[in-house]
Amino acid sequence: MSDELIRRTPWPESSSRAVVTPLQPSVVYASDSPDALDDQYEGRAKGFTYAREGHPNAEVLARKIDALEGAEGGLIVGSGMAAVTATMLGLLKAGDHVLGGDQLYGRSLRMMREELPRFGVETSLADPTDGAAMAAAVRPNTKLVLVELVSNPTLRVADIEAIATLCKEKGLLLVVDNTFTTPRSYQPFEHGADVVIHSVTKLLAGHSDVTLGYVAAADPAHREAIYVTAVTTGLTPSPFDCWLAERGLYSFNLRYDRAEENAAALADHIAALPGVTRVLYPTRPDHPDHNRAAHLLGARGGNMVSFEVEGGRGAANRLTQAAENIAFAPTLGDIGTTLSHPASSSHRGLTPEARAAIGISEGFFRVSVGCEDIGLLKAEFEAAIRAARG
Ligand SMILES: *Cc1c(COP(=O)(O)O)cnc(C)c1O
Repeated sequence: MSDELIRRTPWPESSSRAVVTPLQPSVVYASDSPDALDDQYEGRAKGFTYAREGHPNAEVLARKIDALEGAEGGLIVGSGMAAVTATMLGLLKAGDHVLGGDQLYGRSLRMMREELPRFGVETSLADPTDGAAMAAAVRPNTKLVLVELVSNPTLRVADIEAIATLCKEKGLLLVVDNTFTTPRSYQPFEHGADVVIHSVTKLLAGHSDVTLGYVAAADPAHREAIYVTAVTTGLTPSPFDCWLAERGLYSFNLRYDRAEENAAALADHIAALPGVTRVLYPTRPDHPDHNRAAHLLGARGGNMVSFEVEGGRGAANRLTQAAENIAFAPTLGDIGTTLSHPASSSHRGLTPEARAAIGISEGFFRVSVGCEDIGLLKAEFEAAIRAARG
């Protein structure tokens, strides 16, 4: 009788070691004895037990993003929305009120409008570019404020200093979704944030092949509450996704700088083309929040550019069809440039009037600028915008 196939084969010995981070898909970890397990659970020894509670690939990735954010003990979860969920469920209880920016990511808005109220959490939204409007929306039971620094897709810049001051004065938790800005442009913990969230799916991983999130809290008690909620509700990340995202991070700084440089140049190029009615890029002098962007972000305008062409839906259809080498896809942060049309995707649930109120018309596009040669990008956008004119 032989059980060679069933018993695990020992890992081959090697006096040299692998250079690359190993991928460890094991769900369970075997311990020596019940005493050893006691040591682990009671914090006298470090070790993994069960992958939902943590695994090496998540930990390696978390420590890397911690270093970028100046954070400690950040947690990797299965998506950016899992990070939002873990924060809300971990830090709130029935009867609390959450104040959100009114231009949050679509699913975060849905969480505010539809999901949290089902559990007895009150929510409301206010304009984060207007500190007084945010202050006026605070209620006696407000516990937490959720904002993004640069909004999607109009790239408005939140009055984060006024909001941070407000949160400090009133004892509110400031949660910043730093997905768009990334720690390369802005580090929320240095400016009063209590919790920082990322969709790692986007710029950090950078290749549109993993869905992951990250959440870090400044206060260890908040960290623990978020961790316990994430483990209990099963917001666990896959080891393979963590491994891929860590691989993506090696080139994050290079990708971000290149994409940002491209975005600034592309914004200026598009702005000079006939048929373009508006270009939004935070460091351009014609951006509505230009001064605030300069103050908060310096020259770091990021990789996102939005623009509007005349001619409505017809022009929009012609533009995406002509831009055949640029993926028309509602994502951002990929190594390659992608194009999205909010009126038919992220903001399709709004009425045309509600879209108009935030500046989104049928001719409005958002570009996530990638790392291609800038000459190629200029030529492709120029041709597509020419085609849009018919
Ligand atoms: C994409 C995104 C999210 C959600 O992230 P997923 O990884 O898709 O769940 C949250 N916030 C912002 C700003 C995003 O762009």
